[in-house]
Amino acid sequence: MKLSKRLPITIFCSCFFCIQIFAQNFEDIKRYKVSFALATGANQKLIALRSFSANNQKYLLLVNPETLDTKVDLSSKYATSSLQFQNVLAIFKNTAYIKSIEAAAAKDLQLQNAGIDHAIPNEKGITLTIDLCPSHKALDRIIFQSVFDEFKKIEQPAPLAISVSGKWMLKHQDDLNWLKGLVEKKELNITWVNHTYNHQVNKLPLDENFLLAPGTNLDIEVLENEKLMLKNGLIPSVFFRFPGLVSDKAIVGKIEGYGLIPVGSDAWLAKGQQPNAGSIVLIHGNGNEEIGVKDFIQLLKTKQADVKNKQWLLFDLREGLEKEFE
Ligand SMILES: [Zn+2]
Repeated sequence: MKLSKRLPITIFCSCFFCIQIFAQNFEDIKRYKVSFALATGANQKLIALRSFSANNQKYLLLVNPETLDTKVDLSSKYATSSLQFQNVLAIFKNTAYIKSIEAAAAKDLQLQNAGIDHAIPNEKGITLTIDLCPSHKALDRIIFQSVFDEFKKIEQPAPLAISVSGKWMLKHQDDLNWLKGLVEKKELNITWVNHTYNHQVNKLPLDENFLLAPGTNLDIEVLENEKLMLKNGLIPSVFFRFPGLVSDKAIVGKIEGYGLIPVGSDAWLAKGQQPNAGSIVLIHGNGNEEIGVKDFIQLLKTKQADVKNKQWLLFDLREGLEKEFE
């Protein structure tokens, strides 16, 4: 009933921006929980990862297991049958989604940089990931502007992934709106990656730091961050980046139990790691990593001719994994 009452408003104000707001800004989310289900509707077989209510409607967060695309949709549009996560792994074992989860699990023993760290083998270019850990400083907008300037005639919108923390979102509404504006103008195509709500860091050794710190509540770190993303109009992807890239075998298993794929990096520029073909490049865009930003701008400069000749491209994390595991 509510929808039909509201429909005239969207027709009245039919600009793209307003429809987006109408469709995907969830102010008052209730009963947000992990609930795996096979969701069939509109000729598609999707996997429901989360369910929640908002505006007196029931919603699902869904993933297409072939393309890794996620969306939020009214649950009434789908026939659902609940699944345990183990069943999801078994039923969808031949999809890019489950193959990516398994590839990430195969690298779960190391203390740093577990998960997928190299997206597309033998391709000319990289996948760019930008982390927004909590920070008092402004967003390094130059990163995004430079990507757009270099790639506008080659790839538009240019794909990149942003790992966003809750505490960054809370303090940087203007910067977040600016990023959303770039997506609306089709300048960038952003994959939003969960980077935890609090992103705690302490002075202890790595095996007791970040998410491995005693007292960490994973439900808060994962689910509260997703709720905040949804409240801000961001659709959570199936990707997760560990704060500090620090994890152990047990926590990788727990994160995968939320249906998420840990994404590492084989080219953290500020640490002097050089990108090669298919690298997942990591830079911080939160004002705290001047060297990484400088290195990235320099990298773009050296690749300018290759970009023009389409010999050095940016790859969407989702498409890269879809291609690798098709
Ligand atoms: Zn971080």
